[in-house]
Amino acid sequence: MKLSELGEFGLIAKIRERFPAPDGMTGIGDDCAVLPQNTGHQTLVSTDMLVEGTHFLLDRIPPYDLGWKSAAVNLSDIAAMGGQPTGTFLSLALPASTDSEWLDEFLRGYADVSERFSTPLLGGDTTGSPDRICINVTVLGEAPYATVRKRSDAKKGDLICVTGPLGDSAAGLKAVLDSVEHDPDVQKLIERHYRPMPRVVEGQQLRLNLGVHAMMDISDGIGSDLMHILEASEMNAEINLASLPFSLALKHVCQRFGWNPAELAVCGGEDYELLFTCTPQAEMLLTIPHFVIGRITDRAHGTPEITWRGAPASSFSGFDHFKKGK
Ligand code: ADP
Ligand code: MG
Repeated sequence: MKLSELGEFGLIAKIRERFPAPDGMTGIGDDCAVLPQNTGHQTLVSTDMLVEGTHFLLDRIPPYDLGWKSAAVNLSDIAAMGGQPTGTFLSLALPASTDSEWLDEFLRGYADVSERFSTPLLGGDTTGSPDRICINVTVLGEAPYATVRKRSDAKKGDLICVTGPLGDSAAGLKAVLDSVEHDPDVQKLIERHYRPMPRVVEGQQLRLNLGVHAMMDISDGIGSDLMHILEASEMNAEINLASLPFSLALKHVCQRFGWNPAELAVCGGEDYELLFTCTPQAEMLLTIPHFVIGRITDRAHGTPEITWRGAPASSFSGFDHFKKGK
């Protein structure tokens, strides 16, 4: 069945059926969603748009994965502050020719992330689009008053850490675009690109550690994302390229195709791991998986700078580009 037959209200009914409001909340079906408010908490809000042709290729990404990713990248923004996501809003602009089976799969992926992180879909908007699909998700979250971690909190002498391996997502995208032959390793990387895992639990654990200072999620690659922390915190950084964590799958695939894992990790994005800075003492107390990749240094004046150590500058293309930041 096509969306033209299902109609806007048919689709909303389908979504409403799949996403019932949890007890104590008003969700899909009224003019507004109504959420309880925890006293002593702050509300976090973020929104992200995915446009066909710009953020995803409709003929490549399976609809389940697109649904997953649409929800996951938004939850990741709440995780990046150390918050607990409390609900999402999904706005869809869809051509009338959209298949209802495609929508079912999209909603299944969206629902799986929502359930996994106990974050209900509470509303949205549905409209037609002349030819391309556009997906906008808004996410709400909360954190106890004045406990969120901002990009501007990095301190001199902090260690720079990440919660997981880098470069997988960029390699997965490259594998899709270059249409490389699939094997289990390539498949893993593509999954990491299409189905990122928001580090919600990790973000909250980090928030509980007072020595954890600046935090953000990695959506553009550490070369440019770390620059945001340095700009906001008025600091510089040193990164040890030999300390960048790579998955076994990434190492295998890079060896096979002659790709550079460090280049993918630094210049490629969408890993959605958390990038954070903390004191060396706080790092010793961390119980979540993490990798130390560098340290925050003082900045006397001028624009932020990252010093890359542990590999010759000529070892991969794009080095000069990310050295200066975007
Ligand atoms: P209104 O005209 O009052 O904005 P709509 O007819 O647009 O209401 O939507 C009816 C209900 O369905 C609202 O609660 C809205 O939040 C919800 N809704 C509409 N589109 C979506 C969607 N794509 N995902 C989730 N909820 C939706
Ligand atoms: Mg509306």
